[in-house]
Amino acid sequence: MSSSPALAPAPAAVATKTAPRLQVAVDHHRCVGSTLCTLIAPHTFALNEAGQSVVLDPAGDSLAAILNAAEQCPMMAIGVRDLDSGEVYFDPG
Ligand code: SF4
Repeated sequence: MSSSPALAPAPAAVATKTAPRLQVAVDHHRCVGSTLCTLIAPHTFALNEAGQSVVLDPAGDSLAAILNAAEQCPMMAIGVRDLDSGEVYFDPG
C-alpha cells in the first residue's frame, strides 16, 4: 500500500532580497573599446562615439552579469560597488 508523501507546509513568509543599487564606472584611461562588456552586459554598457565603453544603466543587467563583465575586461577598466553601503564588489585595482 502506497501513500502520498506529505507536502511540506508553505512558509508563512518568504524573505525577499532586493537587488543592490550599483555604482558602475568605466575608466577611460584604460578602456580600449574591446566591446566585451557590451556583449556580456548589453543593457549596462555601450560604446560611445569615441569607441569607449560608457555605462547606460547600472541596473541594466544582473549583478552577476555586470561583475562578469568587470572580471572579463582585458584592461581592468570597470569598477563596481554598492551605492548604498559602499561595499566594493569589483575593484579593478
Ligand atoms: S571590456 Fe573593458 S576595455 Fe573592453 S570596452 Fe568594456 S571597459 Fe572597455
